[in-house]
Amino acid sequence: MEVPGFLPRAGLQQMISLLQDQGYRCVGPQLRDDAILYDTLSDADQLPAGIIQQQSPGAYRLQRIDSPRCFSWANGPQALKPLTFAPREALWYARVEPDGNLRFREAAADDEPLAVLGVRACDLAALALQDQHFLQAQPDPYYNARRRRLFLIAVHCSHSADTCFCAATGDGPQAQSGFDLALHETDEGFFVRAGSPAGQAFYQQLPLEPGDAGAFAAASREIEESALRQSRTLPVGDLERQLFDRLEHPQWQLVAERCLSCGNCTQVCPTCFCHSENEAPSLDGLSSEHQRQWDSCFSPGHSYLHGTTLRADTASRYRQWLTHKFGSWQTQYGRSGCVGCGRCISWCPVGIDPTAELAAICQPEGPHDA
Ligand code: SF4
Ligand code: SF4
Repeated sequence: MEVPGFLPRAGLQQMISLLQDQGYRCVGPQLRDDAILYDTLSDADQLPAGIIQQQSPGAYRLQRIDSPRCFSWANGPQALKPLTFAPREALWYARVEPDGNLRFREAAADDEPLAVLGVRACDLAALALQDQHFLQAQPDPYYNARRRRLFLIAVHCSHSADTCFCAATGDGPQAQSGFDLALHETDEGFFVRAGSPAGQAFYQQLPLEPGDAGAFAAASREIEESALRQSRTLPVGDLERQLFDRLEHPQWQLVAERCLSCGNCTQVCPTCFCHSENEAPSLDGLSSEHQRQWDSCFSPGHSYLHGTTLRADTASRYRQWLTHKFGSWQTQYGRSGCVGCGRCISWCPVGIDPTAELAAICQPEGPHDA
C-alpha cells in the first residue's frame, strides 16, 4: 500500500495560513457552549485538542484528556448543511418605488471561498445527498454558489460515538470520496491524501515528510476499530417496502407518546432539506424581504394544505419522518436518506433512537408481517 505524505502537527498552522493566502476563509471545529461547532479558524490552537466526547440517546458530553489530538471525537450538532443550505436567508426583496411601481431585486448569492477542516465521512455522504436534491432534483442557485466555493479537508473518524452507525449505512468512518484532502490523525501529525485536482495542487504545497508505513498501518487500524465499536444496525432487506407495509403498526403510537414534535432531529440531520418561505414586510409597508428558512416535518404548518393540517398528530409526523428518511428516499434519490451520523439520537431531548424504532417496526415476527 502506498504510504501518504505526513504533515507533522506543527505543519497544521502552515496549512491554515496557505489556505488563507489563497483567499479562503478557513472554518474548523471549535469548542462553543459545551459542544463542538464549526467557526472561523485562523489559528491551529483554536481546534479542540484533547477533547473527547460521550454521546448516547438524549445526551452529549465533552471531556478533556491529555492528548495532542484535535479530532478525537465523532461530531457536533452541526454538519456541513448550514454552510451550504443556510438556516435562514433572504431570496429576494420587493420595494414600492416613488412612481408606485413594485421593483423586485434578487438577493446576492454567498460565494466567499471557504475551506472546511475536519469534515467527517458521514457529512461528505450527506453533502452528496444534498447535492442530488439542490443541484439536480430542484436546482437552487444559492446552494450552488455556496457549494462551489468549498474546499473540503476530511478527517477520518477514529473515535466513533456510541450513537454512530455510519458503518451500517456504508458511509464511514473512513471518508471514501467527495473531499479535496483527507487526513489520518496520529499523535505526531497527519497522513495526507488528495482526493481532487484542487486537493492535489494544494498537497504539493504542504510541508510534507515521507510517511512511515508502520505508523500509517496503525492509523488505518484505528479507523477500522472505530467501525467495529459501532453497535447500532439497521433492519436488513427492503426497508422502504417494510415500512410502507407497516403504516398501521402500533409502534407509531408508542413513539408518539414520547416524541415532543420539537423537530430537533430534523434540524441536526445533515440530509434534511425541508424549508418554508415567508414574506417579512417592513413596518411602513413599502418593502418586503422574501425569506427561506429550515422547516421540519414535525412542525404543524409543514403539512398545512388548503385549510387542513394533513399530519395533525405526532404519530403521523414521526411516521412521515421515518418512512421518508429510511423508505421513500430510496425511490427519490436511489438510497436511504440516512448517513448514520447519529445526531438525531444524541440531540433528541427524550432520547428517541430511530434504529430502535425501525427494529421495533420491522421485526419479522410482528403481527403486521402476516
Ligand atoms: S437520520 Fe439521524 S443518523 Fe441519519 S443522517 Fe439524519 S441525523 Fe444522522
Ligand atoms: S424524535 Fe425527538 S427530536 Fe425528533 S421531534 Fe420527537 S422529540 Fe423531537
